[in-house]
Amino acid sequence: MTAKNKFITLTYLLFGMGLMFSCQEDDGALAELQQEPPDAKMVELISDKGFDAKDIYIEDGFYYVKGVDIVFDKKMAENFNSEQPAEEQRWNGGWMYYSYTRDVKIYKDATFPNHLYGGPLYYAAKHWSNISPNINISFTNIRSEADIVVSGYYNSSASAWAYAAFPHGNGNVGSWMWINTYHRHNQSYGDKVGLMVHELGHNLGYWHTNQPGAYHIPGTPYTDYNSIMHPNIPSGWQYNIAAWTSGDREMIRWAYGLY
Ligand SMILES: [Zn+2]
Repeated sequence: MTAKNKFITLTYLLFGMGLMFSCQEDDGALAELQQEPPDAKMVELISDKGFDAKDIYIEDGFYYVKGVDIVFDKKMAENFNSEQPAEEQRWNGGWMYYSYTRDVKIYKDATFPNHLYGGPLYYAAKHWSNISPNINISFTNIRSEADIVVSGYYNSSASAWAYAAFPHGNGNVGSWMWINTYHRHNQSYGDKVGLMVHELGHNLGYWHTNQPGAYHIPGTPYTDYNSIMHPNIPSGWQYNIAAWTSGDREMIRWAYGLY
């Protein structure tokens, strides 16, 4: 059995056992989190992707959608309205931006629950770095050098276990990921790796595979339950096993290139 076959077999085995968990759990009351009136252009951009405008709320300057683990930087509307978008904004129509940084650096701040996700995030960064010659995700101890800041945040009304910011049109990856320390995070180590791969996927510009308004990447299937970018994140990932589907490989080839 080749290594690749082994990955696939293991994926299907674990998948068949129904070991799945979701990044989109049922939501709690979020209305009280509203801090400022939402920007009309931001609401338009987000609801264009199939989200209900009434589910959009703002916290700490980021736009959230109730029950969804993707967050949006408020600068996105400015960047999309710009007459002269940055040269790096290659995939404006599809809301996909690759980073001019390419060498993406993660900074873990003091609130990041390292005992839970330090290892899984490290291996998730390795999985992304190992799949494409144009993705290299490493870590820095200097915050000002970081492309993505990862942190912990206690929020009893936020349903997802982790959230990740989408690229917002400045040519760089999404700038932030946070772990909601309100939740128990009692899933397996491998599932933590999968969750971190999934959230980094949002930072890199990938939507959920079932996102109604998102650009459909040519050559990828319309239904791909085992995709790491499915909102019900599949099991099968381990520190040493990257369970990419053929659709995942195609989405990476299309946007970043494959090894
Ligand atoms: Zn997600």
